[in-house]
Amino acid sequence: MFETLPVNPKRAWAGLYEMTPDHHPVLGPVPDVPGFYLANGFSGHGVMHAPATGRILSDLILSGETDLIEASLLHLSRFAENKMIEETAVL
Ligand SMILES: Cc1cc2nc3c(=O)[nH]c(=O)nc-3n(C[C@H](O)[C@H](O)[C@H](O)COP(=O)(O)OP(=O)(O)OC[C@H]3O[C@@H](n4cnc5c(N)ncnc54)[C@H](O)[C@@H]3O)c2cc1C
Repeated sequence: MFETLPVNPKRAWAGLYEMTPDHHPVLGPVPDVPGFYLANGFSGHGVMHAPATGRILSDLILSGETDLIEASLLHLSRFAENKMIEETAVL
């Protein structure tokens, strides 16, 4: 049914979700690369998380810690250490 509908490419666009293996962002410093911080992999909720992300990242850059969340849970190393966060509501 849908395959027979006409499509005007000028009125169509696509956006790809940037997914991580546990569907949560990578947030914080990169080990062994001083001064390089990550804030990516937000899947389908990066706009909603943007204000908190800015606050957390500025805290981490300025003082190395934040009282907003347990930021170590979102560290890049969680994948290599098999400490991924279980997520049941994937968006
Ligand atoms: C279809 C869709 C629907 C979504 N709906 C929602 C929603 O309802 N609510 C919500 O909160 N979130 C939603 N999201 C997710 C949200 O859009 C993203 O999580 C958010 O935009 C990510 O922001 P960002 O700044 O991390 O990355 P991006 O917005 O992807 O920005 C990265 C920028 O870096 C640029 N770039 C890439 N490589 C280079 C390079 N080598 N040099 C220079 N620049 C580079 C890119 O051009 C881009 O401008 C949706 C995403 C998609 C795809």
